[in-house]
Amino acid sequence: MGYVDLHLHTTASDGVRSPSEIVRYAKAKGLQAIAITDHDTIEGLEEGLLEGKKIDLEVIPGIEISAEHSPGSMHLLGFFLDIQHPFLIERLGYLQKARAERNPKIVERLNRLGIQLTYEEVLKASGGGQVGRPHFAQVLLKKNYVRSFQEAFERFLKKGAPGYVDKFRFTAKEAIHFINEAKGVAVLAHPNTLNLNGYSELENLILRLIEGGLKGIEVFYPEHSTLDVAQYKTLAERYGLVMTGGTDYHGIEKNGLDIGIGRGQMKLPYSMVEGLKRTRNQLLSERK
Ligand code: AMP
Ligand code: ZN
Ligand code: FE
Ligand code: FE
Repeated sequence: MGYVDLHLHTTASDGVRSPSEIVRYAKAKGLQAIAITDHDTIEGLEEGLLEGKKIDLEVIPGIEISAEHSPGSMHLLGFFLDIQHPFLIERLGYLQKARAERNPKIVERLNRLGIQLTYEEVLKASGGGQVGRPHFAQVLLKKNYVRSFQEAFERFLKKGAPGYVDKFRFTAKEAIHFINEAKGVAVLAHPNTLNLNGYSELENLILRLIEGGLKGIEVFYPEHSTLDVAQYKTLAERYGLVMTGGTDYHGIEKNGLDIGIGRGQMKLPYSMVEGLKRTRNQLLSERK
């Protein structure tokens, strides 16, 4: 049995490799299965699934949705989505609209700060997929307004910075609901970005999310400490949640991060996919 990576981005959102490229890259690295989990979009899935069939790599149709949360950020993963599902398509269309309204406002803000940047340049950086803040960061870097990608976020793009413009987010409950409606398994992504205060706050949040239909927790993630992993495992076991893991690879080797292995420490067995499949089958039989 081989290894898997259940959190990956492509050019359909803010990744650098196209869906077919990421599938071929995963294959070349010897992985047995991957999930494509682009932010707020399923546009890359058809291509990814097709390439997977062609070269015999299991590709799980997934997504990553940003949900309303403060002070940190909450992301929800959905696995085994029915990508034809009308409600899912409608909800994601709504997010695309919110994004399309926000992006030109970021351009305006940056222009007012004296930065010469056009929306066309940002579109070009996005490679034709969905446009997000990382593409603004790329353009700022390319035009030498900042010295690093990270600096672009720190000085201009992160929440509270002068180029930041808020965008609509669904609540966690709403996001889990439409993932479930599309027959997907909803999983809380990288809980360490929630910025919660200790185990019991996370436990309370998870209990609330479980009531809304949450089925899993992303335990294994490059930025999780050993203590994080231990806590998330405990929570998963206590509440019968499926454990997943992934690198969040965007196609850029950020600080040596690579698909499948993260920074060398990750080894995610195929049994993780089997766990997700069991959960999905339960979900489907409950719906009947
Ligand atoms: P958007 O969905 O367009 O608002 O962009 C969000 C994406 O920007 C996230 O998924 C991250 O990939 C990236 N991002 C957000 N905040 C930061 C940050 N402080 N530093 C680096 N990247 C960030
Ligand atoms: Zn991203
Ligand atoms: Fe995320
Ligand atoms: Fe991600």
